[in-house]
Amino acid sequence: MKICRFNTTRLGLVKNNEVLDVTEALSALPTLQWPMVFEDPLIANLPEVMAKIKTLASTAERFNLSDVTLNSPVTLASKLPSAPVNYLKHLAEVEGDPTTFHTHHLKRIEEVGLFLKASSSLVGPGDGVALRHLDRRNDHELELAVIIGKKADRVSPEEALDYVAGYAIGLDITIRGPEERSLRKSIDSYSVLGPWMTTVDELSDPSNLEIELHVNGELRQRANTKDLIIDVPHLIAWASEYYALLPGDVIFTGTPDGVGPVLPGDVITARIEHLGEMSVLVRQA
Ligand code: MN
Repeated sequence: MKICRFNTTRLGLVKNNEVLDVTEALSALPTLQWPMVFEDPLIANLPEVMAKIKTLASTAERFNLSDVTLNSPVTLASKLPSAPVNYLKHLAEVEGDPTTFHTHHLKRIEEVGLFLKASSSLVGPGDGVALRHLDRRNDHELELAVIIGKKADRVSPEEALDYVAGYAIGLDITIRGPEERSLRKSIDSYSVLGPWMTTVDELSDPSNLEIELHVNGELRQRANTKDLIIDVPHLIAWASEYYALLPGDVIFTGTPDGVGPVLPGDVITARIEHLGEMSVLVRQA
């Protein structure tokens, strides 16, 4: 199933080039009670929501995809665990770049470990990226994004995919420079998730997906997730050794080579096989 959020408050089922308005399926969500649980309620109750969506689809109001604003399918993530350099070709690219002056960047992912992007940086493609610090270089990073579906606490790589709700395209927008990644990659709107969530009943194996990114029509990044240094099951297992992954947490799996700068007015077009394509406008904050 391809489940989107659109026009801020609407829930959609994506079919071909249409969005079916299935907002009524949100009635499957439990009412909020204090103290809140730190999870995305839609993702945490996905089986119930998906059952409702199935009953609503045939009579749902339909919109053209091009006529709606797509927001992030995840609205509440406790954290955005992210992989640093996780493709060998991107490692070579970073090592050859004189602006990479912090030794931190040059170490292998196994030494550096994962980092966290702020959850508040999460937006959808229709929201766009609002650049800050225009005197510095702001880069696009195309990444496969993994949306966690249920609490994963010290799980093994063999069972890790059982904890996934779905997949989406992720953009890990980054200011280049010497500061910690968690600062440079956590600016509001610097984590783009979209165009929708493709649930695991539709895509069960994330290990061989073509991914590509264009800026203003120019090809910048093209790779395949089979070339990840640490694959999705091992990323989930590794992260869950340190903290429980909760429903709605999004893992940014790392970017391939070809990262480059974006400026206000640019349009980023990102595509991942089976997950769709999204266009994201870059502007000044
Ligand atoms: Mn990244």
